[in-house]
Formats: sequence, structure tokens, C-alpha cells
Amino acid sequence: MNPEICVYAGSFDPITAGHLDIIRRGAAIFPKLVVAVLRNPSKKGAFTMEERLSMLERSCAGIPNVVFDSFDGLLVDYMRKIDAGVILRGLRAVSDFESEFQMAQLNRQMEPQVETFFLMTSPEHAYLSSSAVREIAMFGGDISPFVPAPIVQEVACKLRK
Ligand code: ADP
Repeated sequence: MNPEICVYAGSFDPITAGHLDIIRRGAAIFPKLVVAVLRNPSKKGAFTMEERLSMLERSCAGIPNVVFDSFDGLLVDYMRKIDAGVILRGLRAVSDFESEFQMAQLNRQMEPQVETFFLMTSPEHAYLSSSAVREIAMFGGDISPFVPAPIVQEVACKLRK
């Protein structure tokens, strides 16, 4: 597995300023960063896969070593398929730790050649999540501090009730 290929996986429903911060910092460390959107048939989500990928691409324009993809099934199987050696995760509050710790241990047991790499959130994004953004947008709140500038309009228009 190639340790120079790093995968940042998630729902990105939609991408937030917190995700973008992790993507920027990850891309500064690893030669190639793959942002992979999980296809989850049992969870419909607010945005389609095409919308999520398009918003990711617009938000990350100008970061040269980032590519975008989608996957379903186990992350370790996707890692094997593209020969990627590192999983990138962001850690917010202590509450993230428990589930991230569990996931990292299980993934390592399934595929010892893959390492999980954690970046601490920047403090201004510590309380930010896609679900919080969706809720604020649904009730007409200003989401411009919370999502990348190129997607503010699209998220606000699509979610406003
Ligand atoms: P999931 O559906 O698995 O929670 P997300 O797309 O919400 O996927 O998140 C993917 C990754 O991004 C996770 O590692 C999560 O901890 C991290 N993340 C989400 N929001 C932030 C944030 N505000 N700051 C730092 N990391 C974050």
C-alpha cells in the first residue's frame, strides 16, 4: 500500500469549512489526497452524490494534489482497490474520539498495512458539522461562516424550507 496516497472519506452532506480545513492541511502533508464520498444506500442524505462531488470540487479548486471519488462498502476494501496507505480523519471534541478510536482499531485489524492519521480541528471549526449546517440553512440562518464561499448559495437555496 502506498503511504503517499491518503484518503479522506466521509458523507460531505454538504462539505463544511471544517472539512475544507482538514483537506487543505492533509494536502499539504501527503503527495496525493483522495476525498472519497461514501455511498450509503440506507441513508438518503440532503444532497445527491453528484451535488456533493460538485460542491467538493468547487470548494477545493486551486488545491492541486486533491482528487475526488465515491465508494461503497468497506473503506479498507476501497483503500486496497486504489492502493492507498493512509486514512485521514479529523478530530473535533472528545466525543469524536470514542468512535474514531474504534474505527481505527477495526480498520487496522482488517488491513494492517493501512494507517489512520488524525488532524485536530482548528478551534473555530470545533463545533461544526454537516448536520448543524443543514439545520441552520433549513431555518434560513446565515451559513456563510460555516461552508466554503463557492457553495453558500447552493446550500442555502436547496435547504431553505
Ligand atoms: P461521517 O458521516 O463519517 O461523520 P463526515 O463527512 O461528517 O463523515 O466527516 C468526515 C471526517 O471529517 C470525520 O473524520 C470527521 O471527524 C471530520 N470532520 C467533520 N467535521 C469536522 C470539523 N468541523 N473539523 C474537523 N474535522 C471534521
